[in-house]
Amino acid sequence: MRTFCPDLTGSFSTSAAQNPTVAIMEAAFADADLDYRYVNCEVPPENLTDAVRGAVAMGWRGFNCSIPHKVAVIEHLDGLAESAAIIGAVNTVVIDRSNGTPRLTGENTDGQGFVASLRPVRDPQGQHVVILGAGGAARAIAVEVALAGALSITIVNRTPDKGQAVADLIDSRTAAAGRYLPWTPSLHVPHGTGILINATNIGFHPYEDQMPDVDMESVDPGTVVADVVVNPPHTVFLQAAANRGCTTLDGLGMLVNQALINARLWTGRDLSGAVMRRELERIFGL
Ligand code: NDP
Repeated sequence: MRTFCPDLTGSFSTSAAQNPTVAIMEAAFADADLDYRYVNCEVPPENLTDAVRGAVAMGWRGFNCSIPHKVAVIEHLDGLAESAAIIGAVNTVVIDRSNGTPRLTGENTDGQGFVASLRPVRDPQGQHVVILGAGGAARAIAVEVALAGALSITIVNRTPDKGQAVADLIDSRTAAAGRYLPWTPSLHVPHGTGILINATNIGFHPYEDQMPDVDMESVDPGTVVADVVVNPPHTVFLQAAANRGCTTLDGLGMLVNQALINARLWTGRDLSGAVMRRELERIFGL
C-alpha cells in the first residue's frame, strides 16, 4: 500500500546522469505495487562520507555505488559478503536495522547479475572462459564465473599488470585456474573457449563503431559471446559474433539481473525482470 513516506533506495556516483538504473527500479517497484523509491544521486568523492551518513540517518534500505565509489565505500561498511570481499569492491549496500542499530553490508552484484543472465544460455560449470578487460566489471565477472564452477578464466588485457593481477586473484582465491594472456593484435581466442566476454568499454557510445581487436575466425561458433556494454546493446562485437554463428548475450541482461538481485536484497521481494527489460528497450529505442 502507498504511503506518503516510501522506503528509500538509490545510487551514489558521478556522473550519475547517464545511469538508467533508476528508471528500471522505479518501473519494477510500481509494477509490484511496492512503496519504495530509487533516488539517483550525483555524489563526488569528497561527499561520499556524508552521503552514506545521510542514507543511514534518513532510514534508507540501501544504495548502489557506482564509479568512483566502489572501493572507497568499503571503509564505511560493517561487513562484506563473500564475493565482494574477494573482488575488493562493492556496488550494493544493504542497511539492516533488524537489531535496532543500522548494520551496513557490502555486496557485489555486478558479476552475480552477469552469471544470472548467462545461465539460461550456458552453465559456467566446467567451462573455459576468456574475459577481455581487467577493470571493475571484468574482475566481478571473473570472480562470480569462477565461483559458479568454471574450470579456467583467461584474462586478456591491454595493460599487462592489471590483467595479471586479476588472473592471480582468480588463481589464489577461487578453485578455477586463472591465467593472463597478452592482448596481441587480432587476438587469437584459445581453442576450447566456451564463453567469451567483452568486459572493456570498447563499443560504448559514442564509440559504437568500434569492437575489441579479436580475430573472429578464431572464435568457435559453439562459443557463447557476451558483451557488458549497454549503450548500444547490439554492439558491433555481438553482431560479428552472431555472423559467426555464436549465441550472443547483451549487457542489458546483466543490468536487469543485478537490479533484480539488489531489489531482493533491499525489499525481500522478486520484482519483474520483464518490466525492467521493457523499460530499458523503451529507453534505448529498441
Ligand atoms: P574500468 O575503467 O574499471 O575498466 C575498463 C577496462 O576496459 C580496462 O580493462 C581497460 O584496459 C579496458 N579498455 C578500455 N578502453 C580500451 C581500449 N581502447 N583498448 C583495450 N582495452 C580498453 O571500467 P568498468 O570495468 O567499470 O566498466 C567496463 C564496461 O562495463 C563499461 O562499458 C561499463 O559500462 C560496463 N558495465 C556494464 C554493466 C552491466 O550491467 N551491463 C555493469 C558494470 C559495468 P586497461 O586496463 O588497459 O586500461
